[in-house]
Amino acid sequence: MNPRVLVGVLALQGAFDAHVQRLTELGLESRLVKNTSDLVDLDGIILPGGESTTMSNLLVASDLGVELSKRLHDGLPVFGTCAGMIMMARTIHDGRPDQISLDAMDIQVRRNGYGRQNDSFEQDISITSLDSPFHALFIRAPVIESIGHDVEVLASIDERPVLVRQAYSLASSFHPELVTDLRVHEIFLSIIHESLTTSKR
Ligand code: GLN
Repeated sequence: MNPRVLVGVLALQGAFDAHVQRLTELGLESRLVKNTSDLVDLDGIILPGGESTTMSNLLVASDLGVELSKRLHDGLPVFGTCAGMIMMARTIHDGRPDQISLDAMDIQVRRNGYGRQNDSFEQDISITSLDSPFHALFIRAPVIESIGHDVEVLASIDERPVLVRQAYSLASSFHPELVTDLRVHEIFLSIIHESLTTSKR
């Protein structure tokens, strides 16, 4: 059990319930984040899959976008999956013109970049630090087209990164919350522990 770690899950739209379930299985406390007050005392936050343009609209409408972006720039650990990763990207290609980015990772992504005919596919991938493959589900997944120097690639398919990390930010183009394997969430948990050990709190 990890009773002292509190992880928020952005719950404006999308697959947030599945993340809550995975966190519970890891023995973690979680909190749905719908308002700025829900950000208080979080040790990390997950931005789920769903529809990034809709989440962007809701973030702008609620002021949560500004506050969340501030917290992320202050170093709050964040894990974005699929649409969540799109929202973290410094540059979003094929987004809507009014779509906002939280700019939490130096990556360029293309929405629906894996193509409409391949709307969904699944593949076993090798992840650095894991000793056996992880079964990854891709659903209208974004492609990571380029990464900055400080971004570490933890898994790729055909030389395209699909799981990346920069400082306390983790992002995947696939949906680890939709399988029962908890190992990618465990990677995020270890990032949270790292941040807690190095913070002055
Ligand atoms: N294509 C979606 C978007 O642009 C992401 C899909 C997903 O999260 N499964 O937000």
